[in-house]
Amino acid sequence: MSESFDVVVVGAGTAGAYTAYNLAKRGFKVAFMDSKSGDKVGVKTCGDALGKHHVDRMARFLTPNPKIFVNEIKGVELFSPDMRTKYVIAGEGYMLDRFNWGKWLVKEAVNAGAAFFEGHTAVAPILENGHVVGVKATDNRQGVHKEFRAKVVVDASGSVGVIRTKLPDTWPISERLHPEDVSHAYREVFYIEDSVENPQYIKIYLDQTISPGGYWWDFPYSSNFVNVGLGIWGVLKINPNANYKKYLEPRYKIKEKVHMGGGFIPTRRPLKSLVGNGILAVGDAAAAVNPLHGGGIGQALLTGELAAKAIERAFSQGRFDTTALWSYNVDYMNEWGYRQAQLDVIRLMLQTLDNDDLNFGLSRKLLTEEDVLDISSRGVTLSVVDKMRIALQFATRPGLLMKLYNAMQYAKRIGDMYLDYPRSPEGLDRWHDRVMEAYGEYRRKIGLGPMPT
Ligand SMILES: Cc1cc2nc3c(=O)[nH]c(=O)nc-3n(C[C@H](O)[C@H](O)[C@H](O)COP(=O)(O)OP(=O)(O)OC[C@H]3O[C@@H](n4cnc5c(N)ncnc54)[C@H](O)[C@@H]3O)c2cc1C
Repeated sequence: MSESFDVVVVGAGTAGAYTAYNLAKRGFKVAFMDSKSGDKVGVKTCGDALGKHHVDRMARFLTPNPKIFVNEIKGVELFSPDMRTKYVIAGEGYMLDRFNWGKWLVKEAVNAGAAFFEGHTAVAPILENGHVVGVKATDNRQGVHKEFRAKVVVDASGSVGVIRTKLPDTWPISERLHPEDVSHAYREVFYIEDSVENPQYIKIYLDQTISPGGYWWDFPYSSNFVNVGLGIWGVLKINPNANYKKYLEPRYKIKEKVHMGGGFIPTRRPLKSLVGNGILAVGDAAAAVNPLHGGGIGQALLTGELAAKAIERAFSQGRFDTTALWSYNVDYMNEWGYRQAQLDVIRLMLQTLDNDDLNFGLSRKLLTEEDVLDISSRGVTLSVVDKMRIALQFATRPGLLMKLYNAMQYAKRIGDMYLDYPRSPEGLDRWHDRVMEAYGEYRRKIGLGPMPT
């Protein structure tokens, strides 16, 4: 059985549903599918925190449903491992009613005209003459195999990237995730007997014993309803569920559990390319997540918006090859990819620190709350690099400060390389070699081995 569309989107999470919505709104014949069906559609294991700026941007295309924002957040409280230092970082956002968020986006895409195939699992791309021309899928309820043919396929299948990773190794978009590039996370949503302090602030706790190479969190939906979880660097092969049970659960007087679950999150630099002949990747499938804190809902929206724009452009040219879709790469690197790369450089440095380093660094405010806010909202600027250079002269822990200085310096340098992402596919390999060289140099300086392959 075979059906034809302009665009087929695999996955109906935030990225897939929003891509389908944007394309259907533009009048394209769109199909989007998800292996989930019925009540499971839209369900996602997540921390459910989303920055207001992402919602504001989405509002240019789709009016947000106010019922979905269950708690207005004013900022982040960040705690040192010994709990003696607390940073309060301003930043407006929301806690989402995540199940209804997911369902709402799917409904909006359907209302805009996209055809939704629930309970359909995509198994492989259809490749003809070096182009993706559709996907093979199974209708889970009927056990029927189907072909969805399209000019363009969008992989929105989340961190597994089920379509893009089945493409030949020679396609840059097929890049596999190394364990160094992911975080393993587990979280539970529950009501508590007592109440959270400052429920308008989400809480992030750095602790290399509880959550090595990551952090643990307590994100309040209200003063007695919370989302508590942790993320651990994938390369360490530690089960986050076990650490959750050992370290976090005993801290709470739990009244009622609402949801439990885990997953893995790509926490890395951007993929070498987010496009190929007849295919683009969005959201987690494009590894578009913030590598420092693992937040990716906003980037799922951003990629959904930018991918739809590039696809419209490709249709106007009547061509769907890598070159025709390339503008998506360039837009992505300019909008977010360069900052993603900067934050990835900082992430790698943080993963080399122990609790003692973190306690020292936070208590001495080697980076202030304003610096953290600046870096997270505007990226690493020369003034931050300069500040680190000057601080080095007065350092009581030169090794730690030198790492911090190197991180800021290379974050700026590597971020600038992403701003200089090639304007066409021809320059990609040369550009990528230079980026890998800079990463290799940086890793040596902070005591990490060569780039993993
Ligand atoms: C524990 C945890 C906590 C997090 N906390 C936050 C947070 O607080 N804030 C934040 O911004 N981000 C957070 N994230 C990340 C965020 O959830 C993701 O970045 C975001 O949801 C990605 O959306 P997506 O649409 O790309 O992927 P997903 O939401 O994963 O959607 C992918 C969809 O594809 C479907 N699918 C997969 N394979 C197939 C297939 N073969 N065929 C058909 N369908 C398929 C899946 O069923 C799923 O519905 C967290 C992630 C985890 C795991």
